[in-house]
Amino acid sequence: MRRDTAVHGAPIGLLGGTFDPVHHGHLRPAIELQERLGLAEMRLVPGHVPPHRRPPRADSEQRLRLLQYAVVGAPGLVVDARELRRGGYSYTVATLYELRAELGSRPLCFVLGSDAFLGLASWYRWRDLETLAHLVVMRRPGHALRLGDELAEWTAARQVLDPAALRGCSSGLILFQETTPLDISASRIRRLIAQGRSARYLVPDLVWGCIAKEGLYGYPQI
Ligand code: ATP
Repeated sequence: MRRDTAVHGAPIGLLGGTFDPVHHGHLRPAIELQERLGLAEMRLVPGHVPPHRRPPRADSEQRLRLLQYAVVGAPGLVVDARELRRGGYSYTVATLYELRAELGSRPLCFVLGSDAFLGLASWYRWRDLETLAHLVVMRRPGHALRLGDELAEWTAARQVLDPAALRGCSSGLILFQETTPLDISASRIRRLIAQGRSARYLVPDLVWGCIAKEGLYGYPQI
């Protein structure tokens, strides 16, 4: 843990994901956390090949394009395509090492939904994460937070209740933060489109327009 290091600058947030496609369940919590935690910016980092799940349905360039449409007019949200450029499996720990080298002692907040947090202990070199970033967990509707023993113990030793604590050191703390609960998932959006139904208003209009124009996820082409 790096709780003793002097820190410089407002924290940077990072929300990783497959974003297949990006939706309001990512974007609304992202902007709320950016404001509430006083983040200089929230970076949305699309993964190339996810280590823990099936390959994304849309290719990396398409998912990146959707993200770029999603952040139009939202200055607090920034798309960071480093995992796509790096190629191969997108290990979070590798991304955080890169960012830590760039940011020096600046606080870094790695944000994840409660569903992803439950599986943390299966991530590659997950115990290194605390030396690199704080973890901010947003509750996801429909996912009860029942932690396994190992993760529960690890979490209890690092959990803080006050978001201000994250500004006082560069990494090593865990915060559970409420955000507007939005029961939206990319898999449901893909399913709706494949069934010929609309996913409008679950994603930003510019994202929906791009899905339709490019015929993504089985959107019918005429
Ligand atoms: P899929 O349905 O394909 O599994 P997803 O909707 O979970 O996709 P991801 O790109 O896998 O989207 O998620 C990226 C991150 O955002 C993860 O940490 C996930 O927990 C979180 N997340 C996704 N949707 C929500 C939501 N509706 N509310 C809160 N967190 C979310």
